[in-house]
Amino acid sequence: MLDRRSFLAAVPAAALAAGSRAVAMAGGGFSTRGVVLTPEDFSLADWPERARRAGLTTIGIHHQNSPRAVVAWAASDAGSRVLEACDRLGLEVEYELHAMKELLPRDLFAQEPALFRLDADGRRNPDANCCPHSARALEVIAENAVAIAAKLRPTTGRYFYWGDDGLPWCACPECRGLSPSEQALLVENRILRALKAVDPRATLAHLAYHDTLPPPRKVAPEPGIFLEYAPIHRSYDEPYDRQADPSRRDGLPMLDANLEVFPAATARVLEYWLDVSLFSRWKRPAAKLPWRPDVLAADLATYAARGIRHVASFAVYVDAAYVQRYGDPAFLAEYGAILARGG
Ligand SMILES: [Zn+2]
Repeated sequence: MLDRRSFLAAVPAAALAAGSRAVAMAGGGFSTRGVVLTPEDFSLADWPERARRAGLTTIGIHHQNSPRAVVAWAASDAGSRVLEACDRLGLEVEYELHAMKELLPRDLFAQEPALFRLDADGRRNPDANCCPHSARALEVIAENAVAIAAKLRPTTGRYFYWGDDGLPWCACPECRGLSPSEQALLVENRILRALKAVDPRATLAHLAYHDTLPPPRKVAPEPGIFLEYAPIHRSYDEPYDRQADPSRRDGLPMLDANLEVFPAATARVLEYWLDVSLFSRWKRPAAKLPWRPDVLAADLATYAARGIRHVASFAVYVDAAYVQRYGDPAFLAEYGAILARGG
């Protein structure tokens, strides 16, 4: 467990004061306190026990080649051991998946090119995402989302089927007036309707990230769509509330703009405070995490003040090799403690 004195020593007084405000405003800690990991990160075999000891509630499973890679892992001995441990320890499990290329299988292109996006050169192209104007595309996507849900069933009812990572959307005459966020939301609304038919408590993320970070304006979220806000291009060298200048990439005004569209009570922040893979520029060997509990505490105050109750951070590359190289990841206990306090 975290020693309170060492925690207090690590966090500047101003951040603690901001954290206290967060507790007062939010009425306590965050109800979702998560980490998002890839199957490879479970080379650190006791990840679930470590998460539990840190007071976390939720492990999200992610993979760049998802969902297929995650389905295979969940069915493997290694995956089963992790999922059983989470169940035993009372940890929620969710699946955060860049799913679009599998929801609309690329091999349909030869027979049905109209399901796919029109690219900047005016050609149908199966390289990314889909044409959200195509009812047939949405039907295929929804069917496959339901099929994947049968294999990867989150314990929370919260589903995450993201678009292809940072890739473009459709420029056909019907879609070109819609932003990437609006095109993604059309797809998400359709997927959610299909999921609710098989899982009545299903809700579905609208991922605000990279080119979908600006909020949708011309398409409205159906009830059960929740905001998942992932400001990957923000700075981690200073608290987020100091990144309010509109010229700052992924700055705080983007969150507030999204909260004009999506309810704060169900919104999820997907952060990068523990994401060794980001700080390593996604190349091994892993860099040492530039751990900033003061930034975390201040950021939590910023999020709590907006009514946000659900928070997770990627912690990719925090694995057996990381522990071998840098020793025990003591930041996990601090992360959990600061989250439980609410900031
Ligand atoms: Zn289109």
